[in-house]
Amino acid sequence: MAVPSRLWRATASTPISSVAASTIRTLSSCSTPNSGADLEAQSLLAQNPLPLRHGPKDRNVQWVFLGCPGVGKGTYASRLSHLLGVPHIATGDLVREELSSSGPLASQLAEIVNQGKLVSDEFIINLLSKRLEAGEAKGESGFILDGFPRTIRQAEILEGVTDIDLVVNLKLREEALLAKCLGRRTCSECGGSYNIACIDIKGENGSPGLYMAPLLPPPHCESKLITRADDTEEVVKERLRIYRKVTQPVEEFYRSRGKLLEFDLPGGIPESWPKLLQALNLDNNDKQSAAA
Ligand code: ADP
Repeated sequence: MAVPSRLWRATASTPISSVAASTIRTLSSCSTPNSGADLEAQSLLAQNPLPLRHGPKDRNVQWVFLGCPGVGKGTYASRLSHLLGVPHIATGDLVREELSSSGPLASQLAEIVNQGKLVSDEFIINLLSKRLEAGEAKGESGFILDGFPRTIRQAEILEGVTDIDLVVNLKLREEALLAKCLGRRTCSECGGSYNIACIDIKGENGSPGLYMAPLLPPPHCESKLITRADDTEEVVKERLRIYRKVTQPVEEFYRSRGKLLEFDLPGGIPESWPKLLQALNLDNNDKQSAAA
């Protein structure tokens, strides 16, 4: 299926370099959630993990990862992409690549991203189309999308051009999200991702505790760690607010289509990874050790 070309044609006929500056605008209006949620499908999904859905024979899985900033979408999407042999496409990474370029729009883009706002649907569709086209040229098939779609409009556009097999909605206790974002570190040399936050929330009044060990860098990365410019307390709070207002309706969009798998992270990677594989019916996969 020629997803990239169709996506490109459907939404973006202009190369990124010539997109008018005005198209990089923050979202000024918010989409509203679809009404009439399919509650039956929702409760079925809660009781039974979805079986692994293979796509049609000529392509690999096409999955989406949803979840608040700091929940760990990148970590688990990346592990699954290794396991399943499909590309992990994070629109946040595409935006950061664009930011680090010396393109004419980089400074306007930085202003939006560093305030925790979303860039326009047009801009992100352009970036994603370019990425998918490049992948198609290399013979890539399937994908795990991370950070896209983030608005109802993006979800509708995606639905108009291809089938999404499964949407994994990662969830983590509110108290942990901010700390996880503030603890994120990347090695400027090898690109390794770490998290220095140690989350230890005691259980009280019948609610369980939550422990997430830090993911510390190896000694040779320690002096090269960098923090994302948008991972400050003020900006993370704004990103969380925008997630609830603009992106949360996307959960309902997929829930009503029976595609949403809700997954509550029980702890850090050692506790969560095996349970996620189980929920995806991937726990007997021979290749799972490759992703560990
Ligand atoms: P987060 O940690 O908040 O999930 P990401 O790394 O996914 O952040 O994205 C970083 C920034 O890139 C976002 O705050 C937003 O400005 C921009 N961005 C990424 N994906 C999208 C998207 N699908 N729509 C609009 N803006 C996006």
